[in-house]
Amino acid sequence: MEEGKSVTENRMPKPAWLRVKLPIGQEYTKVREIVGEHKLHTICQSGNCPNMGECWGAGTATFMILGNICTRSCGFCNVATGRPEAVDPFEPLRVAKSVKLMSVKHCVITSVDRDDLKDGGAQIWVETIQKIRELSPGTTMETLIPDFQGQWDNLQMLIDARPEIISHNLETVRRLTKEVRIQAKYDRSLEVLARISGAGIPAKSGIMLGLGETEEEVVEAMDDLRRSNVSILTLGQYLQPTKEHLAVQEFVHPDIFARLKEIGLSKGFRYVESGPLVRSSYHAEKHLE
Ligand code: SF4
Repeated sequence: MEEGKSVTENRMPKPAWLRVKLPIGQEYTKVREIVGEHKLHTICQSGNCPNMGECWGAGTATFMILGNICTRSCGFCNVATGRPEAVDPFEPLRVAKSVKLMSVKHCVITSVDRDDLKDGGAQIWVETIQKIRELSPGTTMETLIPDFQGQWDNLQMLIDARPEIISHNLETVRRLTKEVRIQAKYDRSLEVLARISGAGIPAKSGIMLGLGETEEEVVEAMDDLRRSNVSILTLGQYLQPTKEHLAVQEFVHPDIFARLKEIGLSKGFRYVESGPLVRSSYHAEKHLE
């Protein structure tokens, strides 16, 4: 067992509200073909997302750029950790071509963390945004970004490319951050978000529930996010991808998600997507003003 990871051999059985539809249908097949043909990575696949049937069936996916190996080793995440391959300068064009083929109105792009690169991957990020704009001028974008280790010049490059929404996930409450996101810092993430909103770009963040946090701690995290002027919030159930990952402490009832949504709205978030199957990129197109 890796240090900091609590592993349960006896995983809790999933409640009925987490059952999902099997991925089938024409649109699903089309998305799968485009992704395969262009040798793209999606967080939908890497993250083992339960919504693939719904999202891909609706012709949308979340592309993951800068390769598929992450320099970080967060306890919740199913993306492989290790030494990433060299940056592929053609990746931005391949992603942009696929977005065009899918003809989606709004796309979500994310990346692995590239702490090995001097610019943290910012240049590839900017080129990807520019290429998507060039090939699909009518398509809006959400970029779900890393913290760039607090190297603000690199973050600024991305802000200057001005995607319609920039998101950065807090993932969990302050107390659990060290265990859940070992190389990240709660306050640094809040600063990333404050810099995004301070530049006049809608800032979005997400928290996973079921990792052992209390409801009070979630509400505190909401207050912290509002202080960073985050306007869009997603709350979803954490699901353990493999038994090597952090164990689920609780399957949070849909009624609690509904209550937290109301609390979030009362705190001034413009949009709160809250439910067991919600992921950061779920229903992303609705989060545009
Ligand atoms: S919720 Fe996001 S990660 Fe999951 S299938 Fe949909 S687009 Fe992909």
